[in-house]
Amino acid sequence: MNKIQPAPGNLADAFIAGCRVGELRLQCCGNCGSYQFYPRIMCAECHGRDLSWTAASGRGSVSSFTVVRRAISAAYEAPYVVALIALEEGPTLMSHIVDCAPEDVAVGAQVRVNFAAWSDSVTLPVFTLHNN
Ligand SMILES: [Zn+2]
Repeated sequence: MNKIQPAPGNLADAFIAGCRVGELRLQCCGNCGSYQFYPRIMCAECHGRDLSWTAASGRGSVSSFTVVRRAISAAYEAPYVVALIALEEGPTLMSHIVDCAPEDVAVGAQVRVNFAAWSDSVTLPVFTLHNN
């Protein structure tokens, strides 16, 4: 059994391509300057359509998380941490926090992006704790 894969051929292609080269890409609005994630066809703030992809800092903080102790399938290795990451640029995205004990994760913890193979062809962002 394989992990659930992102569907190709949609608005997320630029995001997925960025992950492949080590960039966390967000859409940025040329009209109001807002960043957004998930990808959309228009700006969620001003409804403008002048969106471009830009590389985010990769810095953020944990706004919420849960520890999954019973994986949904054998493709996932439990326990693992699923977290909402408040990015420095504003948007929030859901990801995993890796390379730490689940007990070390806390709301408000500072994190940095990293990238991990999700499958043979897909790389996705994960986050690690950043203490300082
Ligand atoms: Zn806008």
